[in-house]
Amino acid sequence: MVTSPDTSVAARARYEPVIGLEVHVQLLTVTKIFCSCSTRFGEPPNTNVCPVCLGMPGALPVLNRKSVEFAVLAAMALNCRVNETSIFARKNYFYPDLPKGYQISQYDKPLAEFGFIEIKTNGGGSKKIGITRLHLEEDAGKSLHEGFPDAAEKTAIDLNRSGVPLIEIVSEPDISSPDEAYDYLTRLKEIILYTGVSDCNMEEGSLRCDANVSVRPRGQKQFGTKTEVKNVNSFRFIRQALEYEIERQIDVLEAGGMISQETRLYNANQGKTYAMRSKEQAHDYRYFPEPDLLPLVVDEKWKAQIAERLPELPEARRARMVREYGITEYDAGVLTATKNLADQFEEAAAAAKNPKRVANLVQSELLGRLKAKGLEIEQSPISMKGVALSADLVESGAISGKILKDLYDLCFERNQDFPAVYGKEKPQQITDSSAIEKMIDEVIAINPRQVEQYRAGKKTVMGFFVGQIMKATNGQANPKLVNDLLSKKLE
Ligand code: ADP
Ligand code: ZN
Ligand code: MG
Repeated sequence: MVTSPDTSVAARARYEPVIGLEVHVQLLTVTKIFCSCSTRFGEPPNTNVCPVCLGMPGALPVLNRKSVEFAVLAAMALNCRVNETSIFARKNYFYPDLPKGYQISQYDKPLAEFGFIEIKTNGGGSKKIGITRLHLEEDAGKSLHEGFPDAAEKTAIDLNRSGVPLIEIVSEPDISSPDEAYDYLTRLKEIILYTGVSDCNMEEGSLRCDANVSVRPRGQKQFGTKTEVKNVNSFRFIRQALEYEIERQIDVLEAGGMISQETRLYNANQGKTYAMRSKEQAHDYRYFPEPDLLPLVVDEKWKAQIAERLPELPEARRARMVREYGITEYDAGVLTATKNLADQFEEAAAAAKNPKRVANLVQSELLGRLKAKGLEIEQSPISMKGVALSADLVESGAISGKILKDLYDLCFERNQDFPAVYGKEKPQQITDSSAIEKMIDEVIAINPRQVEQYRAGKKTVMGFFVGQIMKATNGQANPKLVNDLLSKKLE
């Protein structure tokens, strides 16, 4: 990152950043918010359109019930209070990708308010970041600058996205560092993914974030003037953009200048933000209530129906998994990274004798192999039944850890599930004690020094002997038998 060299550590320490985030999330409805056009991404331009989402005069919007349910579900997951009555409003501005000349959004009576997300702080504690509001609105179209014949002279408009349902989630200015902003966004995305109302795919624009930031002298109550950084397309870049912007603002103030309230763009290649438009050029949206839509009423009964679909959320799930399976918080974090992974793990854990072993297996043997092949858990050749079976086989001593690794490798090579590969390979365990005993005698004979150490009380040398036998048998000796026989011989 490029930062100004003259922001001294001392100067930086005199200021405190204040950050508030506005996040837009596209809802996974099949059809748009006010018409029955498809919301599918990546279709040929202007094929998913109709008079309503093209903004034809006289076309009337009809609210998509599913989009309301998704928005309410998200609001509940974010601890918001859902208002029984909310009002759609027209947000008026001119832009080529906005055919009606206004966006239908919500203004002074949003769908939901007063939520929060809990984030972890550096000290190991946690902190609640307030959510001011969550409202429903329609997306605009998209300007295309490339990918068509006369792109050098013209900009084209694709209105497939026009009218796709969005929720906007506005945070309180409770975030006090770029790291906290990153954490807030990570939690937010995780929670939304768990509810299933969006895929939160940033590359496809399903999740977009605008970051508001100001600095103030430490101890001062009043906020400084903020700038808004727009169109940053990854959480990492948002953190970088905020880091840059905070230093830039401190530099301006230290030099005796003033921050002008403006919208800025982040250039990730340079690691810098640039002024895009100032407050004077800012829009006056002339909001007014949308006359073509009734007030939105979400009564207690409907709310209760939606609440039933609220899944166990990541934080609660991690805590329960730690309790239930005796795994560490770190392990629970890995295993709940996505709802699907957590679901799959719990399926295997329920089917196996020792859930903790399943947790270890998934992490140390399964996830790495999936990652190496670029596969998601849903695409794993080894099913959760397979994982459970393999865990039980190791647990009972029927196969060694080494054999398990080999079998997993074969599963991935052949794209076959564990039970099939295990059945075919039928790894021969050496359970013949006389054969193992013979090997033990040999190992003892050629390692007199270790034997002496063991007999002098250094019991950890046992591991060395076990290792030697397993190596000699290519991992196929029954580990329990090896241990028993070794103890007997060494004593
Ligand atoms: P605007 O009227 O410019 O849209 P809002 O009050 O609606 O500003 O706030 C937009 C976002 O900016 C919110 O997330 C809010 O928390 C954040 N915000 C407001 N004031 C500040 C400030 N002084 N510094 C940083 N963020 C701020
Ligand atoms: Zn339409
Ligand atoms: Mg605002």
